[in-house]
Amino acid sequence: MSRSDMRQLLQEHGVLPTPQRLEVADVLLGRPQHLSAEQIIEKLKSAGSRVSKATVYNTLKLFGECGIVREVMVDPVRKFYDSTTHRHHHFYNVDTGELSDIAVDKVRFKSLPNLPEGTTEQGVEVLIRIRNADEGPAR
Ligand SMILES: [Zn+2]
Repeated sequence: MSRSDMRQLLQEHGVLPTPQRLEVADVLLGRPQHLSAEQIIEKLKSAGSRVSKATVYNTLKLFGECGIVREVMVDPVRKFYDSTTHRHHHFYNVDTGELSDIAVDKVRFKSLPNLPEGTTEQGVEVLIRIRNADEGPAR
């Protein structure tokens, strides 16, 4: 995605495209991927960026709220920012810490509960935790 596409995407979501926000967008939105805030900070740093950690966190929070990225919580201390915003599901490999996509039509629900009165569905997301099959002798 070019800088001007990114600028436009931010504007479409009502986000002012400041240089710092564009730097964060550049790292995350270039291709379909799942990155943690720490990984994004790391990538910015190695690209020579001077965007502060606080700005990165604030920007990611804003992007999440505006629907520019999807937040995927894999456990209470680990959150990923997903550049793919349409509905889909995930595998989470607890051994590698890697998140990968599952197409929405690969998961079918046979039945879902009635929603509590006075609520509407906001989305159903499945996170399938996996681990690498043991190779070699048992530990
Ligand atoms: Zn995803």
